Amino acid sequence: MNLSELPIGQFAVIKSVKAEKKLRRHLLDLGLIPETTLKMVKHAPMGDPVELALRGYSLTLRRKDAAQIEIETVNQPAFRQPENSADTRLKKETAHPGLGEDGLFHSDKDATPLPDHELLSFALIGNQNSGKTTLFNQLTGAKQHVGNFPGVTVDRKNGAIRHYPNTNITDLPGIYSMTAYSDEEKIAIDFLLDNKPHCIINIVDANNIERNLYLTMQLLSMDIPVIVALNMMDELANNGGSIDINAMEELLGVPVIPISASKNQGVDELVRHAVHIAHFQEKPKKQDFCDKNDHNGAVHRALHAIIHLIHDHSEMAHIPPRFVAEKLLEDDSYLEKRLKLDKNEQETIEHIALQMEKERGMDKNAAIADMRFSFIQKVCEQTVNKPLTRKEQIRSQKIDTILTGKYTAIPIFFAIMALIFYLTFNLLGSGLQEIFENLIDKGTVWFDGKLTLWGVNDALHGLIIDGIFAGVGSVLTFLPIIVVLFFSWQFWKTQATLPAWRL
Ligand code: GDP
Ligand code: MG
Repeated sequence: MNLSELPIGQFAVIKSVKAEKKLRRHLLDLGLIPETTLKMVKHAPMGDPVELALRGYSLTLRRKDAAQIEIETVNQPAFRQPENSADTRLKKETAHPGLGEDGLFHSDKDATPLPDHELLSFALIGNQNSGKTTLFNQLTGAKQHVGNFPGVTVDRKNGAIRHYPNTNITDLPGIYSMTAYSDEEKIAIDFLLDNKPHCIINIVDANNIERNLYLTMQLLSMDIPVIVALNMMDELANNGGSIDINAMEELLGVPVIPISASKNQGVDELVRHAVHIAHFQEKPKKQDFCDKNDHNGAVHRALHAIIHLIHDHSEMAHIPPRFVAEKLLEDDSYLEKRLKLDKNEQETIEHIALQMEKERGMDKNAAIADMRFSFIQKVCEQTVNKPLTRKEQIRSQKIDTILTGKYTAIPIFFAIMALIFYLTFNLLGSGLQEIFENLIDKGTVWFDGKLTLWGVNDALHGLIIDGIFAGVGSVLTFLPIIVVLFFSWQFWKTQATLPAWRL
């Protein structure tokens, strides 16, 4: 059975992901890994896309992509209270690690502060819809420059952080992973490797934290100071959820700042910490994400073997070894070129990967993705107290049952279209159009009189009245209709994009 055939409300376990290489990587990065349990939440009216729940977040998927995933249905898994879960953990106060605080220094003794007047450069990076644009606008105010990344037409926004003239922050494209398969991901990787910003501000949606931390984990191995901006905390708190920030800071080894970008809460604190770690060059705590004692032991051994093998190349190419090792194990040819590995080394890496796949019982891409999600799960079990039901979810489900219902969706769609047409051509549009026509007619007659009075040359007179007034006038009379249609469309667009259908 494939995932697109899974009935609503049913649980299933992923058996395999069959898609072609590029799409497959994307699906794995989104957490659709063999052995993962998921639930079908709903279908859109025409059956496409579908919404899934897995690993504590929701995911929207095209039906044809879902069809590439082979599954086996299972009964609803028993609710498992994770050991050392947030419920018990939150009762103990975790000491504040104080990373990125003034006065305190990071455990990273190698950190060498930048000279006092050095321009501090920041990269803003995060998933789509995590609030990146909202935060960027809060950080820079109206003082931003828009251009393109060299060689590609993807918006590049730059600006100084408000009240910190000696800073420059660059908004990178919204991405889920650093796998160099899409242009957006390549831009982000190139930017981080070539421009070496002094600090990465990683914006994370606290309501979809497991999916967002997948990118965070890859940023942590870039050997650049990272600060995590935990966004949408207002929504999480509003729904009764909470996060043990101190514990998360300790586990990730970087400063974590709860914020609400849209309400401008915590943004000042974020900026203070970001400027601090950028200036003092406090890098993420060095740690292994793969646990050598659990099922990821094989991945752990393979990564370390590759790190030893390519250490000299990674130093020469100025690319952090841990990042390189993961990419090479994942078969990311993009970095292979930069590293200039010789044939023996490439073959050795292939052998290491083969051995790892054999021991792990999973192909290399799935194994790496699984290793990352295992670490994320550990972090979240100890730090995140999820709201049981989200208010938005309930509201959106209620609206969806009607708007996207099997029998109601299409009639409602036509009713709304009919209403828009009625407003446009009858009620508002035609009324406005009449007023407009009247005004233009009056104006024409008045100006015609004046031209005759002034004795203007006949040719010019004709040009103005018959050409400009008649021509532009008849175009202008369509303006009201277009305006009404445009505003109806804008209104429909904002109302119809329910949060649940955002990916
Ligand atoms: P981007 O795709 O990452 O640039 O995300 P946007 O900045 O466009 O934000 C996506 C949506 O989240 C918008 O509807 C924002 O209004 C909303 N949003 C952003 N920040 C917050 C926040 O802190 N709290 C809440 N509740 N919503 C937010
Ligand atoms: Mg945006």
